[in-house]
Amino acid sequence: MGAQPIDRFLSITGAEPIARARRLGEEMSSRLTGRAVWSVNSTAIGGGVAEMLRSVLPYVRGFGIDSRWVVIGGTSDFFRITKRLHHALHGSYGDGSPLSVDERAVYENVLRANADEISALVRPRDVVVLHDPQTAGLAPTLSGLGAIVIWRCHIGADIPNPETDLGWNFLAPYICDAAATVFTRQQYVPDVCNHDRSTIIPPSIDPFSPKNQHLEDDVARAILLHTGLVGGDPSEALPTFVRLDGSPGRVDRRVDVIGLGPVPSLDAPLVVQVSRWDPLKDPAGVMRGFARLAEMEPHLDAELILAGPNVHAIEDDPESAKTLDGVVDRWRALPHAIRDRVHLASLPTADLEENGAIVNALQREATVVVQKSVREGFGLTVTEAMWKRRAVLASAVGGIQDQITNNVNGLLLEDPNDLESFASLLGRLLSDAALRQQLGEQARERVRTEYVPLRHLAQYAELLERIDAA
Ligand code: UDP
Repeated sequence: MGAQPIDRFLSITGAEPIARARRLGEEMSSRLTGRAVWSVNSTAIGGGVAEMLRSVLPYVRGFGIDSRWVVIGGTSDFFRITKRLHHALHGSYGDGSPLSVDERAVYENVLRANADEISALVRPRDVVVLHDPQTAGLAPTLSGLGAIVIWRCHIGADIPNPETDLGWNFLAPYICDAAATVFTRQQYVPDVCNHDRSTIIPPSIDPFSPKNQHLEDDVARAILLHTGLVGGDPSEALPTFVRLDGSPGRVDRRVDVIGLGPVPSLDAPLVVQVSRWDPLKDPAGVMRGFARLAEMEPHLDAELILAGPNVHAIEDDPESAKTLDGVVDRWRALPHAIRDRVHLASLPTADLEENGAIVNALQREATVVVQKSVREGFGLTVTEAMWKRRAVLASAVGGIQDQITNNVNGLLLEDPNDLESFASLLGRLLSDAALRQQLGEQARERVRTEYVPLRHLAQYAELLERIDAA
């Protein structure tokens, strides 16, 4: 991962936000002279945290800051427990397994081994940003070395319940002494965290990454054709994109599509959800909602693509293969005529930039992007689609409520389990091109002003200034 100057945002944000971010970034850089900033998470592939680090760290490096990224290792038992914690912090029951003494022992053993390795690298006064429950248990060891530890949590529940209590009680011993804790929304800050040391910083997306960079329409279509996600006659355009280092990239791999009939034609209206295969993203509910719409509108010509990463790719998400199997079972149970129009796509992950370009093309060519999550800390996929001027229909849960203003820059589904409303809102969007365009333009503007890395960088710089002054 290289370094990028923030000047490239000039055409997006104008000069003033750049000048402010530059001043804060330069101050941060001089404050950090001789110190490294470490980001620690549990996967390099898949999910929002890896995506966000890849988007923001190059700009941190652009200020000459020594910014490094470490991915911890773990056993399958460890990742099962951390996935259980993930569900708990979302207020969800998950697999309902206990989070007691035995689980704590497994969790601490794995993190002890990781702490030994990381401790050999981190020096006193270095800044270490630990992401999510998987890494929280590293905090006491690294603080003990004299590092400044920030724990950043990307998930949370709007309303506490016994599950959130269970999760926070498990994590409290590790995070209470961190120099700061960072959350995505104020509602997510748990009682166990010292509120004076908690800060709200929502994520951002990189408009220049393969996932979000501008693609001409014919190039996006060439990518979808080449991967086998849609069918039709290829044009002259090649399935190309620009890699993070500025070199040319080309989409070479094909997508694994589970479907009954032919893949959608290039010109069919596409309804798309891109997500990890996770029950909280409710892929089965999207299928059922789409099926409900097809019942309500027998002449519906739209096709549904549910796309997620290849299930073997993501080490810290042991649930994904099981979830995909469950979705395939539900898909098999759909009436034949509807099953024909529902396509389950596993995107190749061997080359993450290529994977990003495929997601980019899918989001761009979608007529409607949906994100029917039942819980969501912050939906990067929502912001990615909004940046591409898409009409987005998403559940009014968690961070999505901050990302979308209903009827202004997208549509919110009040109750994510209300399939009737999902179907009718989806039908409304599919049948109203003017509404889609109006929402899409506003969506782009929202991302331009709120969710590009300049804002994110400035907030980090301010946080570090506060910690150093404390
Ligand atoms: N993603 C991807 N390839 C896939 C599926 C998802 O790159 O096949 C990305 C998606 O574009 C987004 C991230 O994974 O950038 C998911 O982040 P989000 O905040 O939506 O959900 P999370 O997975 O963190 O719960």
